[in-house]
Amino acid sequence: MAFVITAPCETEKAGECATVCPVDCIEEGSDHFYIDPDICIDCGACVAVCPVDAIVEEYELTPEQEPYLEKAEAYFSK
Ligand code: SF4
Repeated sequence: MAFVITAPCETEKAGECATVCPVDCIEEGSDHFYIDPDICIDCGACVAVCPVDAIVEEYELTPEQEPYLEKAEAYFSK
């Protein structure tokens, strides 16, 4: 399992998440930040610092948020 960055990041892109991530698995994409789901260790540190509550646990994604996991997987498969 992994955490996923969703819609609120598109207008915020604060970036604190990337600073606190202990395994350095968050990168800034063109439209929002992305978490590499293969590297994320589920620590939750990024969730605590996100000012717009954009970071969601994979198993809690709503149907509307599911595409954000697919976007993250595609981003890191490049
Ligand atoms: Fe990084 Fe932890 Fe957030 Fe995963 S849950 S992206 S390991 S800070």
